[in-house]
Amino acid sequence: MTSPCSATPQGFATAQVQAGYQPTGVVSAVPPIHQTAAYEFASLAEAADLFALRRPGIIYSRNANPTQQILEERVALLEGGASAVAVASGQAAVAVTILALVHRGGHVVAADQLYGGTIDLLQETLDDFGISVTFVDQDDIAAWRAAVTPRTRLLFAESVANPIAQVLDIRAVADVAHAAGVPLVIDNTVGTPHLVRPGEHGADFVVHSATKFLSGHGSSLGGVVVDQGTFDFGAEPARWPQFTAPYTRFGDLILWDRFGSGQAFAALVKSKYVHDLGPSLSPFNAWQILQGIETLDLRVSRQSATARLIAEHLAGHPAVARVHHPALADNPWHGAAARYLPNGAPSVFSFDIVGAEDDGSFDRVAAVVDELRVFRLVANIGDARSMVAHPASMTHSHLTADQRTAAGISVNTVRVSAGLEDPADLIADLDRVLAPLLEDALVAAR
Ligand SMILES: *Cc1c(COP(=O)(O)O)cnc(C)c1O
Repeated sequence: MTSPCSATPQGFATAQVQAGYQPTGVVSAVPPIHQTAAYEFASLAEAADLFALRRPGIIYSRNANPTQQILEERVALLEGGASAVAVASGQAAVAVTILALVHRGGHVVAADQLYGGTIDLLQETLDDFGISVTFVDQDDIAAWRAAVTPRTRLLFAESVANPIAQVLDIRAVADVAHAAGVPLVIDNTVGTPHLVRPGEHGADFVVHSATKFLSGHGSSLGGVVVDQGTFDFGAEPARWPQFTAPYTRFGDLILWDRFGSGQAFAALVKSKYVHDLGPSLSPFNAWQILQGIETLDLRVSRQSATARLIAEHLAGHPAVARVHHPALADNPWHGAAARYLPNGAPSVFSFDIVGAEDDGSFDRVAAVVDELRVFRLVANIGDARSMVAHPASMTHSHLTADQRTAAGISVNTVRVSAGLEDPADLIADLDRVLAPLLEDALVAAR
């Protein structure tokens, strides 16, 4: 099972580099990659105890691996949580979290503004499994409240949505969840624990696509779910039989009694959902994500500062109709950013190029995007490289036109993920590709 987090109080940056790793045997300064599928038992008695969950330990790398456990402990600590489970991708982290909390016949209330893959998962795959969803505008607190039914088992939103960087009022949505007796799950992929720790604002579970800022170099997929240890599944036991009724595959074991708050969820996710469905993180990817986390605060603060410079520049650019960045004073989420993101605004944001949405919009956007040289056209965020994407034809292409409008996206919207290059080179790259739009506008005005 997940090892408990270190009780030693540490600063964020110290935890980034050190948490979760206590060298044993050969004292390797950097956490080793345990490239093994399985582990040798000292005795048959030990093996039997491990299989019955009577003692903590590792059996097989589908469920647990020492390199992965260092990652789990580190991310749990950075989020201020009690335990974590690392899996093969962000999608897998979201899927196992929802499956562990919501069963057939259950219901989820989720934000309209979610990542496209999470919307696909909720409205198609989980619907096939008998789990229903109601999407609401994440800023409409009355809508969250109205969407809750007796079958609702969790509320789900992102701390900072993308592509247009809406900042969630986490506390208000947490209050709705808790009034309904269900946990709030927050996807903190774009927020990162350097900018915001959702658990400090009432979130009970925090999920990450570790592929993005945690890894930080665009080299490995991974996902993590952190249990903040705040939700009491024992308060209404009939509602949460997965924790409070005997766990049939382990005889009479009751997870809530055996593992308790902060550990029972990880035990369930690993011993059932990761065990049965198999979305395991490879030791090598776990190691790469650990390497990335060592520089998380440095990268994220630099990327935030660069994004802000770019956003301010674009806001004054005549070929740009609108910049969606919460650091700008006229942005609808400026106040929420001041409250929730005191360390800086996110480095993922969007801008709309000038021009009516018409048949030619796609070609105009393509002419801009295809000429970029420093920014790369990539369906990813949080990389050291600066990247752009076109949500309407890429990440959000599965959405209906109404869903896209609800997410604040038009065909003219270009998403930016600011990397670690020189800000002047990035701004010059954008200026160069936007210049022809100005000439077109001048010609049209003549
Ligand atoms: C990328 C992403 C995911 C999915 O993560 P993968 O690692 O690509 O599976 C989930 N949520 C958000 C906000 C993301 O950006």
